[in-house]
Amino acid sequence: MSYQAPLRDMRFVLHELFDVAGHCERLGNGLDRELIDGVLEEAAAFTGNEIAPLNRNSDEEGCRLENGQVSTPKGFRAAYKQYVENGWASMTGPVDFGGQGFPQLVSFAFHEMLMGASLSFRVYSGLTEGAVLALDKHGSDELKRDYLGKMVSGEWTGTMCLTEPQAGTDLALLRTKAEPQADGSYKVTGNKIFISGGEQDMSENIVHLVLARLPDAPAGVKGISLLLVPKFVANADGTPGAVNALSCGAIEHKMGIKGASTCVMNFDGATGWLVGEANQGLACMFTMMNDARFQVGLQGLGLGEAAFQGALRYARERLQSRGLTGAAAPEKAADPIIVHPDVRRMLLTQKTLVEGCRMLAAYTARQLDLEHGADDAAARKAAAKRAALLIPIVKAFFTDMGQESASHAVQVYGGHGFIREWGMEQLMRDSRITQLYEGTNGIQALDLIRRKLLGDGGAELNALIDEFAAMTRDAAGQPALAEMASVVEARLQQWRELAAQVIASSQQDAQEIGATSVDFLQYSAYVLLAGFWLQAAATAQRALDAGTGEAAFYQAKLQSAAFYLRRVLPRASSHREALLGGAACLMAMPEESFAF
Ligand SMILES: Cc1cc2nc3c(=O)[nH]c(=O)nc-3n(C[C@H](O)[C@H](O)[C@H](O)COP(=O)(O)OP(=O)(O)OC[C@H]3O[C@@H](n4cnc5c(N)ncnc54)[C@H](O)[C@@H]3O)c2cc1C
Repeated sequence: MSYQAPLRDMRFVLHELFDVAGHCERLGNGLDRELIDGVLEEAAAFTGNEIAPLNRNSDEEGCRLENGQVSTPKGFRAAYKQYVENGWASMTGPVDFGGQGFPQLVSFAFHEMLMGASLSFRVYSGLTEGAVLALDKHGSDELKRDYLGKMVSGEWTGTMCLTEPQAGTDLALLRTKAEPQADGSYKVTGNKIFISGGEQDMSENIVHLVLARLPDAPAGVKGISLLLVPKFVANADGTPGAVNALSCGAIEHKMGIKGASTCVMNFDGATGWLVGEANQGLACMFTMMNDARFQVGLQGLGLGEAAFQGALRYARERLQSRGLTGAAAPEKAADPIIVHPDVRRMLLTQKTLVEGCRMLAAYTARQLDLEHGADDAAARKAAAKRAALLIPIVKAFFTDMGQESASHAVQVYGGHGFIREWGMEQLMRDSRITQLYEGTNGIQALDLIRRKLLGDGGAELNALIDEFAAMTRDAAGQPALAEMASVVEARLQQWRELAAQVIASSQQDAQEIGATSVDFLQYSAYVLLAGFWLQAAATAQRALDAGTGEAAFYQAKLQSAAFYLRRVLPRASSHREALLGGAACLMAMPEESFAF
C-alpha cells in the first residue's frame, strides 16, 4: 500500500492556522518557513519512498526470536540506519546532547507521517524519544554523559519497562526488585512483559527504563523507582561494553504491528542505576508517558490518514452501479463508487475526523513546546496545564478515530477490504493496539475526569472553552460563517454546562466518574474539533475573499467544515444523553446476573 504525506493539509495547519514560523521565532530556535517546508518535503520523501514500502512485508514476515536474538523484518535494519544517519532520530533531542531541538509543532507532522507509513517501524524509535526526555529531566550527570548522546542520535534505542504479568493498568502491583550495591548501582531482578523493542537487531545498544521497588520501599505506587538498565553497560569511550544480566525470554504473536517486537524481558540481577529520586519513579515515568501518550495519539492520526488515502484511491477507481440521479461516467460500464452518497459519507467522515485531529494535534504540540520553551514561567505553567488537559483526549480520541477510519476503509473496499493484499485489514489490525497501550482509552477518560476536571474544579476546561468562545465570536464576524459559528457557540455553552454537571454528580457519587468518563471524553473531543473546523473555515473564507488562489482547496475546507458540523458533530448529543443516563443503571445488576 502506498502512503503519501498530506503535505498540503499539513502546511495549511502549520502556517495558516498556527503560524509555525512565528512560533519558532518566539522559541528562538532559528527555524523559518522555508526551512520547515524543506524538512517536511524531505520527511515526505523519506516516509513515502523508504518506509511505507516495508510495511506490508513487515506484517507478513513479523519478528523472529532465535537464541535470545530478535530479527526484525527485512529492510527494517537498513531503513533504521538511514533514519539515524539522516538525522531523523535526533530531530527533537536536546541540543546539548547533539539533538536538533525541533519543536513539536514541526516534528509532530514528521511523526504522523512515520506512523502512517509504518507503525511497526515507528515503534522502535518512538519510545526512545520519551526515554530521552525522562533521562534528560531526571537523570544524573553521569548517566546523561554515558547514555544520552547515543540515545539522542538514535544509535542506541530506549524502552519503557512498566508492565508485569500481574501489573498492567495497576502499577501498584509491580514486583520487580532493585537492590542497592556498594558502588551506588542496583541489581535489578524481575520479569517484564509486552516490552516494545525490548530486543531487536536495529540499534547497537538498548537502554531499558525499568520501574522497580527498592527493598525498603513503601507499598503501592509511592514505592516505585525508575532505573536505567542497559543491554550493554556503556564504556568510558561511549562504546557498548559489558553484557548485562538481562534477556528476552519470548516475543508475542499478535493481532497487529507484527513488525514491532513485543518482548518478555527477564532481568536476572542486571546492573542498573537510579533515575531521579528513590520512590519517585512514577513521577519520572510520567515525563515519558506524557510524550508517549501524545505520540500514540499521533499513531491514530497517521493510521487514520493512511486508511483515508487507501479508501479514497479505491473509491475513485472502483466501478459499481450508477449514481442515484443518473450516470456520472456514461462512457464507462458503471460509475466510480465515489458517486454514491453512502461512500461519500464514509470518506468525508474519515477526512473530517483526520483533518480535525490534525488541527488538535498541532494545538497540543504548541502547548507542549511552550511548556518547555516559553520565556516566562507563567506561560510555561499555563501551557503545561493546557497540555495535561488535552493529552488524554488526544490519546484516546485519535486512536478511536484511527480505528474508525480503518474500519470505514475496509467498508469502502467492500469484500476486497477483508482481503490481505489491499492492506486495509492490516491498518485495522495495526491500529487496534493504539487504543490499548500507554494506558487503555478507558483509563485516559478516567484521567480526564478524575485528575484533570475534578483536580481543579473545571477551571482549566473553562479557560479552554473561553478561548474557543472568543475564536467563535471572531468567526461569527464573517457573514458567510454566522450559521456555523452559532452551532459551535451553542455546543461550547453546552460543554460548559455538561462539565459542571459531571463535576457535581461525581462529587455526589464516585461511580459517576467511571460511568461518565468515556462519553465525556468523546463529547469533549467532538466539540473541540468543531471549534477547529470553524477556525479552518474562517481561514479558508478569508483566503477566498482575498483571492489568493487555490480556490478549490479552500472551498473543500468550507465544505468539509459544513459536513463535520452537520453530520459528525451530532454524535456529541448521543454521548451527552448517554452520560446523563448516570451510573445507577450500570451498577444495579449483581455480578452473577451478567451471566443470565
Ligand atoms: C503490543 C503491545 C505493546 C506494549 N508495549 C509496552 C511497553 O513498551 N512497555 C510497557 O510497559 N507495556 C507495554 N504494553 C502493555 C500495555 O501498556 C498494557 O497492556 C496496558 O496498559 C493494559 O494493561 P493490561 O493489558 O494488563 O490490562 P488490564 O490492566 O488488565 O486491563 C483490562 C481491562 O480492564 C480495564 N481496567 C483496568 N483497570 C481499570 C480501572 N481502574 N477502571 C476502569 N477500567 C479498568 C482496562 O481499561 C481494560 O479494558 C504493551 C502491550 C501490547 C499488547
